[in-house]
Amino acid sequence: MIAFMDCGAGGPGGIGSAAPAGRHREVVVSGKRVKTVDVHAHCGLPEAMALMGLPFTTKALLMATPADRLRAMDAQGIDVEALSINPFWYGADRDVAEKLIRMQNESLAEACAAHPDRFVAFASVALQHPELAAQQLEEGVKKYGLRGAAIGGSVEGAELSDARFHPFWAKAESLGVLIFIHPQGTAELERTTRLAGNGVLTNTIGNPLETTIALSHLIFEGTLDRFPGLKICAAHGGGYLPSYAARSDSIMTTFPQRITKTLKKKPTEYLRQLYFDSIVFTGEALRHLAAEAGPGQLVMGTDYPYPWTSTSVDHILGAPGFSDAERAAMLGGTAAALLGIKT
Ligand SMILES: [Zn+2]
Repeated sequence: MIAFMDCGAGGPGGIGSAAPAGRHREVVVSGKRVKTVDVHAHCGLPEAMALMGLPFTTKALLMATPADRLRAMDAQGIDVEALSINPFWYGADRDVAEKLIRMQNESLAEACAAHPDRFVAFASVALQHPELAAQQLEEGVKKYGLRGAAIGGSVEGAELSDARFHPFWAKAESLGVLIFIHPQGTAELERTTRLAGNGVLTNTIGNPLETTIALSHLIFEGTLDRFPGLKICAAHGGGYLPSYAARSDSIMTTFPQRITKTLKKKPTEYLRQLYFDSIVFTGEALRHLAAEAGPGQLVMGTDYPYPWTSTSVDHILGAPGFSDAERAAMLGGTAAALLGIKT
């Protein structure tokens, strides 16, 4: 394949890429081809949803016929997608959960095997049964070649920092695999009218709010101290937490008598060990996220097939204040290392 340089619009340092319609866009930074990785790409399995009595409505989530997905990846300059399935099974009893997860992880492994150069996947796990989830993660990684797990931002109202989930976190830490946290809205607020009305607020602010709450508990409850080797990637740039991070430090000195646990670091310092996807829409937001977390903690996300953005590559190429090496790392280098993708 041919690399198309687009030096006119590509920004500093000889960055650029373009491709005519129907071709695989190849991304080049500083004259070097970058293998780009999308850590935030959804898929789904109708048979698994049927086990929970749920309808399957979004055809673009299907992996049995990935032609449209591959076309979109080619056009957007995405070389590899890390597939994940958003949890809908946290209410399932153990028997159903075992069957459903095995079905999904087998199916994810098949999708990856069909296009090994284009797809890797996160295992799904039944986090409502933490010991089982730890087994499913291990089986997913060792038997099915999956690269980590995708989980929700809470589990039937329980926070991810709850001690009942320690077996899962311990397994994730010992395996050294990435855990992708994707929010599912804030069900508690949806039961009131706070998020009703125009603006799809259940998603617009409900999703980033759940991520903000989840990460804050993992920090303040000491989960990240207990499992310091955890590799966690938060969707949507970590929600609102990195945008207002300093408040988490300030609470420690403003109301010290109300702080009930001793942390090993300042709350904001934990942002520098978490990973965040790049779905923050503007160059300035990406610059700020990097200022809080470090550019080495940022990885590209698209949210495919949901059309939040189709310009994730250009977003990273065009954001202000990054070196070429940092852009290449965000586009794929960091994610490739985390997910065991050969570059
Ligand atoms: Zn998503």
